Amino acid sequence: MWNQRPGPPSAATSGKSPPLDFFAFAILVAIAAGSWIAIAVLRLAEPGPQDRTLTIHGIYDETGHLLTALMVAAGVRAMRLPIPFWSVLIGGVILDVGHVMIQLDFSEPIDGSSRNGTHSILVVALIALGGFVDQRRANLWLGVTIGALSHLWRDMGTGLVPLAWPISHEIWGTSFTRYMVGLAGLTVAMIGSGALLAIHERANRDVAGITPASVTTSNRAGQ
Ligand SMILES: [Zn+2]
Repeated sequence: MWNQRPGPPSAATSGKSPPLDFFAFAILVAIAAGSWIAIAVLRLAEPGPQDRTLTIHGIYDETGHLLTALMVAAGVRAMRLPIPFWSVLIGGVILDVGHVMIQLDFSEPIDGSSRNGTHSILVVALIALGGFVDQRRANLWLGVTIGALSHLWRDMGTGLVPLAWPISHEIWGTSFTRYMVGLAGLTVAMIGSGALLAIHERANRDVAGITPASVTTSNRAGQ
């Protein structure tokens, strides 16, 4: 990995192959699967629009966003990207500042949607740009950006989103089923990719650990 520095010989370079960290992967799979099931249960448990207050809906909705971001964060961790879990979770809810702005009469929702311009690709791109300015914390900005993308995807599954604001006031959406399938697919792909990369790294460490030993043995044999 990019942040590894030369150090004392590890178990790998001394010829012993460290076991793949299956336990860590099992935890990530459990977090992702548990979150996905919880999102489905949440959807079934939420009272209908007639039987709930805005606050109750908000609690259900933000919990759904946090669980969505948690699944993506599990994928990010599996790929061992240097991005803290919490930054993805913050990104998972930050765009709903837009709802607070609407409640406080600072802003109005786009026609046909309950969301304002905060729920657009432009705002997500501006968050990402933060990393180019605040370069030492670019990984945190990236985490928030990834979480914000997961937010847009969930909101497209539960409603309509002005993705192209302010260029266009068109609103975009998909079905809840597609959101769930897409989220599961993305998370499986990320955790699976992380597992493949870990296997690749271990296999190459094994080669690096075995080769010097065999060279040493043949040198000794030739002396
Ligand atoms: Zn939202």
